[in-house]
Amino acid sequence: MYIWCRDHRLHHRYSDTDGDPHNSKRGMFYSHFGWLMTSRHPLCKKLRDTIDMSDLQQDRFVMFQYRHFRPLYFFLGFLLPIWLPMHFFQETFTNAVFVCFFLRYVYTMHVTACINSLAHKFGTRPYDKTIQPVESWFVSLLSLGEGWHNYHHAYPWDYKAAEIGMPLNSTASLIRLCASLGLAYDLKSVDPETLNKRIINKGDGTYEVKYLEEHVTAIGPLHPLNPSYRGTCPDPEIKLKVRMKP
Ligand SMILES: [Zn+2]
Ligand SMILES: [Zn+2]
Repeated sequence: MYIWCRDHRLHHRYSDTDGDPHNSKRGMFYSHFGWLMTSRHPLCKKLRDTIDMSDLQQDRFVMFQYRHFRPLYFFLGFLLPIWLPMHFFQETFTNAVFVCFFLRYVYTMHVTACINSLAHKFGTRPYDKTIQPVESWFVSLLSLGEGWHNYHHAYPWDYKAAEIGMPLNSTASLIRLCASLGLAYDLKSVDPETLNKRIINKGDGTYEVKYLEEHVTAIGPLHPLNPSYRGTCPDPEIKLKVRMKP
């Protein structure tokens, strides 16, 4: 949780620049999986230490998982998913290992990676055409709602990570369920008026909805790669927000 969170904060602050751990400007493969197989860009390494992690450092639960990652992974990520189907459903060891460990692992890793690769490339930018991330219903379908990425980068603090709560956004539903149990709190969301202003001022004109009918210019049919994407995003010149020592 700790490492993922630090990398994700870095990704949001320096999106699609060399400071971004999975900089999509370095190509599809790099942003999908290559970044996990090579060493980090020097700038990314430098900037990593500037990310404020004090909130998580004070969270005992997060730090416990960080300190005991290897044994926890072995029991919860490897042994438990293999033992459960063998014990309760009389599956063979081979089936349990290949399906519940390898297949599950490969699938979830690639789906997560799609958010960094496909959802930074193929889709529309109805909320902000000046940034690289896009809306991808295809990635949302695979990742239970994490593919509405133009919105997520426009408003990273919105708990839904998308404008709509449903369909194709069961992660937002899970957070609401946690909130009703008291496990999540202070859920923030954008108010519709602010959102409309941004869609009109900064959107690429592909916004689909209700109150803005006159603004709609292009909505493609549902296609995995969102053909309404017109590919006109300029390379972002994102200014570094900290001053680096020479
Ligand atoms: Zn992103
Ligand atoms: Zn994010």
